[in-house]
Amino acid sequence: MAAYDTNNIFAKILRGELPCHKVYEDDHVFAFLDIMPRSPGHTLIIPKAAARNILDISAEDYAHVARGTHKIAGVAMKAFKADGITVQQFNEPAGGQVVFHLHMHVMPRKDGVALLPPASRKEDPKVLEEHARLLIAALASA
Ligand code: AMP
Repeated sequence: MAAYDTNNIFAKILRGELPCHKVYEDDHVFAFLDIMPRSPGHTLIIPKAAARNILDISAEDYAHVARGTHKIAGVAMKAFKADGITVQQFNEPAGGQVVFHLHMHVMPRKDGVALLPPASRKEDPKVLEEHARLLIAALASA
């Protein structure tokens, strides 16, 4: 497996070198909106630790990611009046991974509404701004 690349897009977002629609942050994890959401509210949770994917992250750091994912899934249900949540995480190109800093996808779902295909369209930044606001408000009242 390739080594962790400190210049991957999500590492740059973590360092503040690239913009994002941030939703949540603590000592161990960072959460922001996917710019090509497969459903409204599609959020990515990443560890602050440098980890390519599930194959090189420590169990402890992965547990922090799981905790952050659990938190975002709960508030996304409320913020998007969702009927369910899909959580996905891909590892290595053969496993569908495109960005090589571990990330969990949290996608709010409505009954009978299919996910858009991956990377099908870039969302309007105004819409992402509003969706981040909804999630941040739901986190504040959780
Ligand atoms: P994957 O590695 O297959 O889990 O896919 C990477 C995900 O990152 C895709 O859902 C992309 O839409 C998303 N993505 C790529 N670049 C950015 C970015 N700059 N900000 C937010 N999401 C991104």
